[in-house]
Amino acid sequence: MVLLEQVAVRYSDGPEILRDISFALAPGTLHFLVGPSGAGKSTLLRLLSLALKPSEGRFSLFGRDVAGLERRDLPAMRRRIGVVFQEFRLLEHLTAFDNVALPLRLANVREAEIKKHVGELLDWVGLGDKLEALPPTLSGGQQQRVAIARAVIARPSLLLADEPTGNVDDRIALRLMYLFEELYKLGTTVLIATHNESLVARFPHHQLHLEGGRLAPRTRLSAALP
Ligand code: ADP
Ligand code: ADP
Repeated sequence: MVLLEQVAVRYSDGPEILRDISFALAPGTLHFLVGPSGAGKSTLLRLLSLALKPSEGRFSLFGRDVAGLERRDLPAMRRRIGVVFQEFRLLEHLTAFDNVALPLRLANVREAEIKKHVGELLDWVGLGDKLEALPPTLSGGQQQRVAIARAVIARPSLLLADEPTGNVDDRIALRLMYLFEELYKLGTTVLIATHNESLVARFPHHQLHLEGGRLAPRTRLSAALP
């Protein structure tokens, strides 16, 4: 699904922000990406979402070597990736329904099908009664659920979330985590960047630790060993 071997990343001619990054994400797994602010978590997510290229090393995604991709290959690759941000990034003048429908409309899916799928998905995230609501009228947790629905409506193979619980309280953060868990159980590969260590400690998932641009992969299991 995702394979990085000794990858380095820099912004244009700047210093290397990420160095010597090697890990694999198997299909249908959920990983936390943890580390302090400035560690490079967002940069790693930008790399995985094909917004940045590696300056060194090997990166393959969905079985394809990213270095060998042509510019015209990128849109189709990116459609297989869903992204959720801390600040939701919903379109404020569009209803919850229309925000979630957007990726399907861009893919020219028939309107009858859109109606069915978007309705079902918003039901599933607990917002079946908010289809016509505009984002500013929704709570932070509700807006984030709309954003998650929009990120997964086109059934991406890979879901990347950058501090998705950063703008909601602890109770809502837990509910969002249960939603991410449902998604990975359905077969989506999920990577959640967060600096919320107490949230991470409550869930038995794999953990990738970033610090100063370097990775020390360790699972909760191995971390618990003496
Ligand atoms: P995190 O998400 O863990 O807080 P970031 O990936 O945002 O870390 O930042 C890692 C480092 O990369 C920081 O030193 C930051 O200043 C730098 N950085 C982030 N974005 C850019 C950018 N667009 N251009 C140059 N440097 C950047
Ligand atoms: P550039 O001007 O750097 O050649 P393009 O205009 O071709 O970039 O691509 C637009 C965006 O896609 C940029 O953010 C670029 O970093 C990214 N991109 C281009 N090619 C690749 C690639 N092979 N792998 C990952 N990202 C890429």
